[in-house]
Amino acid sequence: MSRFLHSKYNSLTPYDTSGEVESLTGYIRLNTNESPYPPSPKAIEYAHEASRNMNYYSDPDCRELAVKLSSLMNVKPNEIVFGNGSDEILSFIFMAFCENGAAFPDITYSFYKILAGLHGVNYVTVPLRDFRVEPEDYADMNHRTIFIANPNAPTGIALSLNEIERIINLNPESLIVIDEAYVDFGAESSVRFIGDYDNVIITRTFSKSRSLAGGRLGWCMTNESLARDIRDIKNTIAPYNINAMTQAAGTGSIEDEEYTQRNIAEICRERELIKNALTEMGFEVLDSRTNFLFARHKNISGIRIFEWLKKRHIMIRHFSNQKINDWNRITIGTHEQMQAMLNALKEEIF
Ligand code: PMP
Repeated sequence: MSRFLHSKYNSLTPYDTSGEVESLTGYIRLNTNESPYPPSPKAIEYAHEASRNMNYYSDPDCRELAVKLSSLMNVKPNEIVFGNGSDEILSFIFMAFCENGAAFPDITYSFYKILAGLHGVNYVTVPLRDFRVEPEDYADMNHRTIFIANPNAPTGIALSLNEIERIINLNPESLIVIDEAYVDFGAESSVRFIGDYDNVIITRTFSKSRSLAGGRLGWCMTNESLARDIRDIKNTIAPYNINAMTQAAGTGSIEDEEYTQRNIAEICRERELIKNALTEMGFEVLDSRTNFLFARHKNISGIRIFEWLKKRHIMIRHFSNQKINDWNRITIGTHEQMQAMLNALKEEIF
């Protein structure tokens, strides 16, 4: 820390990307929940085309993208705000709406805690029960903004819409943020609730099912009034937050919905195959509605499995958090990548 850093940042805990950078080359990457498939050819073509106009600023309102996405999502264009990844949207939300604090499960997306730290937001964590979010545990949130990843990460478990609605009904004075980064892989979207309730924000991303993690494109859907607040924050910090190539890639991706749906089906099929194979090898594997599995072996530690695969140039995600350090999170890659992982595990386990 330099002597010039503002004292309010003295205790920042930035997201630890060290393991991720290490795996950029020469590794099978099953540690960051990306898609193993390239972006749609249409996304690549449109991005390439857009690069010719890089001398101009990008559209701050992503209008073409908003119109296309709004008809796919069945919302109005001005109920959408785009972010440089949904991480940026989450950051805007922490900045804009967490004056009364935040609440989220004790085991969930680690970025919520990091963003609370950055924006000086007090937070409470609500323990999962048997790895599940229990809606009744959110009965007394006292105007705090509630963050629920549905499906949750790293567990992969999804709540039903009834359970989500219960959390909303228990908290009419709180804002409820449903982070649907993984919803395309088998959970139900809560998007319909933005018309029924005035306190719901849905965040989504192009990083997982749409193969655009490196393009950095996320969005939120909410009522016009909350969307305006988020847009105001966005336009104060980074009006041109989505570059022109990424906007074009997003448009191409939406125009090629069939490609996305095919990839999702393939990933879900592979996920169930791997779940069964791991179970046969003595793993306990949670029921996943995402593009990853959360698994622990009945008599081999999580760190040993992680190290074993790493030595074989396969990266999975291990967590130092005491509560889950027997577990690993394994992204679903291509069939070949997953076979390589199973073969490596077989050498260790049998
Ligand atoms: N929410 C959850 C639950 C995630 O796991 C991730 C990805 N790590 C994100 C949001 C952010 O994704 P992105 O910024 O790439 O949209």
